[in-house]
Amino acid sequence: MAKALNRFVLPEERIPDSWYNLRADMRNKPASMLHPGLLRPMLLEELCGVFAEELAKQELDDTSEYVSIPGGVMDYYRTFRPSPLCRAHSLEKALQTPAKIYYKFEGNNTSGSHKLNSAAAQAYYAREQGLKGVTTETGAGQWGTALSMACAHFGLECRVFMVKVSAEQKPYRRAVMETFGAKIVASPSDTTKVGRDILAKNPDTGGSLGCAISEAMETAFGLEGYRYVLGSVMNHVLLHQSVIGLEAKLALDEMGEQADIVIGCTGGGSNMGGLMAPFVRDKLRHGSKVRLIAVEPASCPSFTRGKFAYDCGDTGRMTPFIKMYTLGCEFMPGANHAGGLRYHGMSPILSQLYYDKVLDEVRAEGQTAVFDAAVTFARAEGVLPAPESAHAIRGAIDEAIRCREEGTGKTILFGLSGTGYFDMTAYKSYIDGAMTDHIPTDAELAASLASLPKAD
Ligand SMILES: *Cc1c(COP(=O)(O)O)cnc(C)c1O
Repeated sequence: MAKALNRFVLPEERIPDSWYNLRADMRNKPASMLHPGLLRPMLLEELCGVFAEELAKQELDDTSEYVSIPGGVMDYYRTFRPSPLCRAHSLEKALQTPAKIYYKFEGNNTSGSHKLNSAAAQAYYAREQGLKGVTTETGAGQWGTALSMACAHFGLECRVFMVKVSAEQKPYRRAVMETFGAKIVASPSDTTKVGRDILAKNPDTGGSLGCAISEAMETAFGLEGYRYVLGSVMNHVLLHQSVIGLEAKLALDEMGEQADIVIGCTGGGSNMGGLMAPFVRDKLRHGSKVRLIAVEPASCPSFTRGKFAYDCGDTGRMTPFIKMYTLGCEFMPGANHAGGLRYHGMSPILSQLYYDKVLDEVRAEGQTAVFDAAVTFARAEGVLPAPESAHAIRGAIDEAIRCREEGTGKTILFGLSGTGYFDMTAYKSYIDGAMTDHIPTDAELAASLASLPKAD
């Protein structure tokens, strides 16, 4: 048994060689995506018009328990994986908690987040299919950066529609993507019909992910040899992200540790879905009592204040209908700094698991409370967390404090999905005392939920 180190990194040869598909173990599978006109499940050939073929197959595959990771993706993974599993000794001391706190750190690659795990796979399959390029959306910029890197590696063109407020707040993110050869368009833009329509209705909008998705899809449909790719929400993305949880579990096993509580932040659900995947397996197969907690921003509370219903994935209503916890595809989150957590919907897999009470709890946190946690963590551990990840830190700190109050020494594992180097505007506003909490009113949510399509 290895000693309880500060940083535990598996040897390179122990990077998992298969992704784990947790749908295989779910009693109630996530609902099928529906054709928006015909209201029947989407067919493989229809999905292949949008996504690369192998990804479309993975999207529909509810039965294969493991999917082997192609050699080209493994080679690329070896350049930034395994990611470390860290013990937050200093944070434990600062909190005077008897709990053990571990975090799986996905921010050690140039993109700065877990998103490269899926970008690598998606660029690989697109290249294998002989495609020329891909389009996508990006909110805070992490997904666009990850995809730009993967496209540079595998030799694909990359066009990124970046939510306008983020493009303005984070000019350096844009420069990083351009360094990797991607073309960046601030969204909404006048380069697409969807973008022009949205601008005509709302000329001052700062944009949203839902709107950038519409523009990226319209562009992909119009370009020969192009497909559209997504960085979260989709089943195939969660499949790729399972590498996070598989590695974390291997490392914990190696140290003779068992997680009692697993915590992750949720925007579209991909890092949490990946981190918790093998722990869900233990619950569903072996009756493990591990407690799974997701933390979302109070400014975009899909789980805690949304509806579990069919909705469109984008503002322009171009996607199939997806059954998920949603705030309605016309929901426009107020200004907040949890950039990567601003999507109106939630992964269908996580949605079903929450509905079935396998995902035990979801908390919504305001951004000031989240930045309190981020700064406590940064000062104790010397790691600058992404604001998104700081939602998970908030959850972990609150659980550790509860352990102190109850005198129980639980083992907590949380996902530190990325670094915050491009989020200094947000940190600055917190430090200057200028940060506010934007929480949508019931009336605002009722208005956007009224736009749900009639599908079930
Ligand atoms: C994108 C992002 C998230 C949110 O996306 P999920 O799909 O919910 O994981 C969280 N943390 C970081 C660092 C991100 O870049």
